[in-house]
Amino acid sequence: MSDPTIFEMSSPGRIGARFPEPDVPLAELPQEFLRENLPMPELSEIDVIRHFTNLSRKNYAIDVGFYPLGSCTMKYNPRVNEEMARLPGFAHTHPLQPIETVQGNLAMMYELQEWLKEISGFKAVTLQPAAGAQGEFTGVMIIRAYHRSRGDLQRTKIIIPDSAHGTNPATSAMSGFEVVPVPTDADGNVDMAALRAVCDEHVAGLMLTNPNTLGLFDCNVKEVVDLIHNCGGLVYGDGANLNALLGIVRPGDLGFDVMHYNLHKTFSTPHGGGGPGSGPVGVTEALAEFLPGPIAGIVEEGDEEMAPLYGWVMPAKSIGRVKSFFGQFGMMVRAYTYISMYGPDGMRSIAEHAVLNANYLLARLRDTYKVAYDRVCMHEFVLEGHFADAPEIHALDIAKRLIDYNIHPPTNYFPLIVKEALMIEPTETESKQVLDQFAEVMVKIAEEARTSPELLKSAPHNTPVGRLDEVKAARDLVLCCWVPDKA
Ligand SMILES: *Cc1c(COP(=O)(O)O)cnc(C)c1O
Repeated sequence: MSDPTIFEMSSPGRIGARFPEPDVPLAELPQEFLRENLPMPELSEIDVIRHFTNLSRKNYAIDVGFYPLGSCTMKYNPRVNEEMARLPGFAHTHPLQPIETVQGNLAMMYELQEWLKEISGFKAVTLQPAAGAQGEFTGVMIIRAYHRSRGDLQRTKIIIPDSAHGTNPATSAMSGFEVVPVPTDADGNVDMAALRAVCDEHVAGLMLTNPNTLGLFDCNVKEVVDLIHNCGGLVYGDGANLNALLGIVRPGDLGFDVMHYNLHKTFSTPHGGGGPGSGPVGVTEALAEFLPGPIAGIVEEGDEEMAPLYGWVMPAKSIGRVKSFFGQFGMMVRAYTYISMYGPDGMRSIAEHAVLNANYLLARLRDTYKVAYDRVCMHEFVLEGHFADAPEIHALDIAKRLIDYNIHPPTNYFPLIVKEALMIEPTETESKQVLDQFAEVMVKIAEEARTSPELLKSAPHNTPVGRLDEVKAARDLVLCCWVPDKA
């Protein structure tokens, strides 16, 4: 059922573009740059439009249906964000323009930094990192620079709970640290006894996600933070789950020293196939001088007559740049638009509705599916996708069957500490009707698991491709449909 590529569709002589008559003198092309063998597809405009429109219709997207992909916060991306990001003054500036000509862009970046500081309770923010994972890397490098600047060279370990996202141990290891895992206790919090046992003078820091990836607010957060600080370490907050806290709890007030934000989760900028991410990092006063730079700042205060002059500021002991130019500017415009549309009270209502929606779904599903760590959840929760009386059914089968009902599967097999995990995050943008439909489908699938398990085993039934070899797909990337002849 695979579609022809645009190269296979090519028909000699077809053309989709017409060039105007040249209005400059014709010149010879430099021959050394011209290739003999450069096959280009020859197609009409409608061929191309149909080809790409058909391809796009094979994709699932938040604009198509419910997307409860846990930990990813797949909320609706408001169209006004897109409109703002396309304003010529934002879209058509060049990062090398003189700063006098980009004052509006710098003012927007500066104000976004101020808002992110206020939302999270941190003292300084960089907008540079391009994703959550890069924000983590930045944060861990800042922790490293902090200890080194004090001559404290013995700190070689980062503690990470076993519920953490894989990017946490990955970024710690990339930064040269030894990763020390700590288990989760029976209630879904960090196991305090185990944490105490690994806290010593070699600890550089701890990475904590709160609410954690079980969707639970860690009730021991204060003790965890104090324990790490008392042994001289710093606390990194994985801010991917900030959606649950907006306007209610500020990680800076909880004692976190450094945290990344995912603008593409919490602040509604598109992600997945939809565009680049953005992972700003916030820090306490003590860490501000280590932030990557340059950072948008006020270089000359304004007064009644004159607007302030914005420019680039390099923190004194900066770890350096982590991204070319200044980060994903278009994502910043979208997040700025989103935050300004909601305002402070709106921020709080986002978190309240996200948590309410998750608890509503949990209440509707807890009698049908086993719940890992069953207590009031935050913005997401984790079910177990297996049944004692349908032993051949696994979480993957349930996930694939959901696709038949035009619903994106939840995150599955993560967090690793839950057997057959199905991690469900509805987000605040879904209505009660959508949540009810999802709950009904989940209950129906649980029935099918008993009555006609083959329906689940052979799902999905209506997609262009069925079950993929995900390991092969990741290891054996094919990114190009045309392989040049070896001339
Ligand atoms: C998404 C996520 C990350 C990584 O963020 P990216 O922007 O995908 O790199 C880290 N931790 C948690 C808990 C996440 O959900």
